[in-house]
Amino acid sequence: MTFDLTPEQDQLRDAVRALGRRYGHGYFVEKAKAGEHTTELWAEAGRLGYLGVNIPTEYGGGGGGITDLAIVCEELAAAGCPLLLLVVSPAIAATVLNRHGTEDQRKRHLPGLADGSQKIVFAITEPEAGSNFHRLGTVARRDGDGWLLNGRKCYISGVDEADHVLVVARTEDSSTGKLKPALFVVPTDAAGLTRSKLDMEIVSPENQFLLYLDDVRVPADALLGESLDAGLPALFAGLNPERITVAAMGAGTGRYAIERASEYTATRTVWGGRSIGSHQGVSHPLAHAAVQVELARLMIQKAATLYDAGRDLEAGVAGNMAKYAAGEAAALAVDTAVQVLGGAGMTTEYGVATLLGAVRAGRIAPVSREMILNFVAQHVLGQDKSY
Ligand SMILES: Cc1cc2nc3c(=O)[nH]c(=O)nc-3n(C[C@H](O)[C@H](O)[C@H](O)COP(=O)(O)OP(=O)(O)OC[C@H]3O[C@@H](n4cnc5c(N)ncnc54)[C@H](O)[C@@H]3O)c2cc1C
Repeated sequence: MTFDLTPEQDQLRDAVRALGRRYGHGYFVEKAKAGEHTTELWAEAGRLGYLGVNIPTEYGGGGGGITDLAIVCEELAAAGCPLLLLVVSPAIAATVLNRHGTEDQRKRHLPGLADGSQKIVFAITEPEAGSNFHRLGTVARRDGDGWLLNGRKCYISGVDEADHVLVVARTEDSSTGKLKPALFVVPTDAAGLTRSKLDMEIVSPENQFLLYLDDVRVPADALLGESLDAGLPALFAGLNPERITVAAMGAGTGRYAIERASEYTATRTVWGGRSIGSHQGVSHPLAHAAVQVELARLMIQKAATLYDAGRDLEAGVAGNMAKYAAGEAAALAVDTAVQVLGGAGMTTEYGVATLLGAVRAGRIAPVSREMILNFVAQHVLGQDKSY
């Protein structure tokens, strides 16, 4: 394993950092508080090719891997613009479509995902099923040559800004009679698909929704892949990119918070001429958070390298660990930054408390810390499952 990025990845990092800094956290918060989206930033990132770095060149992307997309996620977050839809649209949806979609689906969606003109969000979570996807109640039934979808989804990010939503439903397997998962690419303006916005305590221009599917009719080619057998592998294909990119976003947010805090504590004086950062009660918690963020970055790099080398199983373990580590590190970094800034930490102006809700959510979604610990306990430590 190498610890060096390629020259192209170094350039990508510098370029995305520059773009993120041009917009900055002030822009992100302003959009969130106005109930608007970061349309300009998304469009510019798309034009510059950053949203499609992991999409093959034949579909208009950069032909890179998840390492490249993780760089984009981390650097935008490190500039104070943690964009959750990067995790949903280019990481999950583009990977799933590229790896398991039909050629027609790839041609229809990947170029738009690459240049940012299309967004596809992802809907798996349901009120009754929660973390237990075996209990999914959204069902797809054959209806003539198409499908009829019925069910409820919750916490679905970005439906209001997306053209399509990748819906995870269950279908009946005609050979066994059992229900098995299948994915459907559903237009967000489909008849019967309605939504209501959830009020979340997160300062973000991206919103979460309850999604209602009432007899949503989609054509046969809305089923992702060539047959129903594509469902389960397609579902799993999205997991590693999701964990790695959300971890990168967390690490970037942690870096952002530590940088804001360090600038402040290096110059703020309260006792004589010394900066508050000279007191170890202030600098040690910050240094501790910096160590945790850097450790998480190391695990992200490992997971992304394994994933891009096609070593999916090892990437699964590393990706889960990276997501856990980054989620904890980001929450610690932001909380520590708020503390060392004192009262300024709670102001909107200093731009750290604005991230408290987002980093707290990062320990729950897209997979909770407990479900990762379950995964590690079972798959790494060989423990029995209690549920
Ligand atoms: C900001 C945000 C954005 C989101 N975006 C999306 C999206 O775009 N698409 C989508 O499909 N979903 C999305 N989600 C949903 C998210 O993936 C779920 O909230 C998450 O998977 C947890 O499910 P739950 O909320 O139903 O919690 P539950 O499953 O009800 O769990 C509640 C608590 O119990 C713990 N728990 C449950 N089972 C066990 C167990 N066996 N062992 C130990 N602990 C356990 C959990 O860890 C958690 O702490 C989003 C959520 C948030 C907060």
